[in-house]
Amino acid sequence: MHTKKEIQNQYKALPALLLPWYRKNARDLPWRRTKEPYRVWVSEIMLQQTRVEAVRGYYARFLTALPRINNLAEADEEHLLKLWEGLGYYSRVRNLQKAAKTVMEQHGGVFPSNYGDVRALTGIGDYTAGAICSICFEQPRAAVDGNVLRIMARITEDFSPIDLADTKKKVAAALEEVYPAGECGAFTQSLMELGACVCTPRSPKCGECPVKEICFARKAGTVEKLPVKLPKKPKREEKRTVFLLECDGKYAVCKRTEKGLLSGLWQLPNVTGEKTPDEALKTVDSFGAKPLELQKEVHKTHIFTHIVWDMVGYHILCGVKAKNFTWVSREELQTTYALPTAFRIFLED
Ligand code: SF4
Repeated sequence: MHTKKEIQNQYKALPALLLPWYRKNARDLPWRRTKEPYRVWVSEIMLQQTRVEAVRGYYARFLTALPRINNLAEADEEHLLKLWEGLGYYSRVRNLQKAAKTVMEQHGGVFPSNYGDVRALTGIGDYTAGAICSICFEQPRAAVDGNVLRIMARITEDFSPIDLADTKKKVAAALEEVYPAGECGAFTQSLMELGACVCTPRSPKCGECPVKEICFARKAGTVEKLPVKLPKKPKREEKRTVFLLECDGKYAVCKRTEKGLLSGLWQLPNVTGEKTPDEALKTVDSFGAKPLELQKEVHKTHIFTHIVWDMVGYHILCGVKAKNFTWVSREELQTTYALPTAFRIFLED
């Protein structure tokens, strides 16, 4: 257990150690070449739950299609979802658009710089508001995510579970005390960079770490025990049967009406439970699509945040384009319809 004074000293030492290291080692990422709030905001939302390498292409495409916040506010929903296709967590892009509309209607199209106004935008939590205000407006606002919590748990050898809101508040408040004037954005990004490249969840590179001399966990040999997390709830498993129905070279899709998971997105027809091939053909018959031949059976799994879909998929040739579906070509599926990865994987084989 370290004293309050010792912990404060750890925080105070951070800017002088991290900033020179960051200037020398920062990765050249497209969203780091700008301080324009719209661009930084889009990148931060995309980077939630998605790897940097996966985001690069999406980021470039999104901003080419919607270069300004008014373009996002006015974009057609289908177009937006298509730009987001494959990134998952589709509520993120819907919230982006809601917030863009608020900026247009309540802030005259200019992204707000006041922390309270930024935080009030739909889909923007403490982390994103802190990132935008420090990076774009040089305000001493911390952006505390799992990476920063991990780093600080190790540097201060703090065994408080990082999932607790109190731990997050404590870390944010302590960081905001030491934000260096004029280098707030660089400080936020240096913490992100340390978490992404050096103080990684597994096998941190302590030997090349810019804060190794002050890190309490390194000195005590407790790095592998930190951070402490509360036990996770196991994911719920759900069985599903997915139909790839083909008729005259067209495929059946429909809109998801269920609330919650993937709501409002296009999908392949599907039902809960695992159907046998015979049951699958009967189900397709009940859709009015006149099944002619079962071509293929495949098994796939897709993992969401709280749920796992264990799916069986049947590719079935049909004699009738049942009216309750929209029938589209493979090309249209590629170019026009946003199909979440959970369904798109059935087009791959
Ligand atoms: S010394 Fe190791 S554990 Fe400590 S901050 Fe650096 S990488 Fe993380």
